[in-house]
Amino acid sequence: MEWRLRREMVSVAKRIDERRLVAASDGNISVRIGGGRFGTGRILITPSGIALGSLRPQDIVMIDHKGRLLSGDLKKSSEYRLHLMVYEVRCDVQAVIHAHPPVANAFTFAGVPLDPCIVPEVVATLGRIPTSDYGTPATDEGATVARELIAEHDAIMLQRHGSVTVGESLVSAYHKLEKLEHTAEVLLAAYQLGGPKKLSQEEIEKLGKLREDLGIGAASDVLRACRPADR
Ligand SMILES: [Zn+2]
Repeated sequence: MEWRLRREMVSVAKRIDERRLVAASDGNISVRIGGGRFGTGRILITPSGIALGSLRPQDIVMIDHKGRLLSGDLKKSSEYRLHLMVYEVRCDVQAVIHAHPPVANAFTFAGVPLDPCIVPEVVATLGRIPTSDYGTPATDEGATVARELIAEHDAIMLQRHGSVTVGESLVSAYHKLEKLEHTAEVLLAAYQLGGPKKLSQEEIEKLGKLREDLGIGAASDVLRACRPADR
């Protein structure tokens, strides 16, 4: 089980690197071993200072829910507080990915929200992609600013920093990262073409129903995320 997870982390790390969703040794990945709140209490996390593209299964370190090193020769990711915070607030989550997707990041640098309810499949699946307040990366503050948003959303942006995507599996968290950056690329193109046109309230309601029918979540999630006052 543990080595299967390590190999899966390496495979996802390579995909993140190939898609240029990080630069140099940025970005980090973790998985929780076992289910439930903290599961077995063990978390596999990528080490600090190694590019995701050259990660090997044996480089990954194991920590406990307080961030104490349980096994591994390398230093744990400097963003481990962010990962531990997510596992603490989301007992449904088994994997966390923090990346620096460039186009989505550019939206937060420009102060342009990524969350207008415009792209139908994103509305139905992710609801919206909110942006947190700014917090210094790799500190308690950097993790705390994301706490409220990640409690309610599977894909968020950290202002002037990067993304956090979570899932019941590593592949699911990775797919949300791809979807997040793809949404940013599409929105950027739409802004260049004169600005994206918003979905009507009626269409938003239909997407909420679709979300419910597909078993992804409640229709009310979408209605709450795309309230007319926020649009
Ligand atoms: Zn970062």
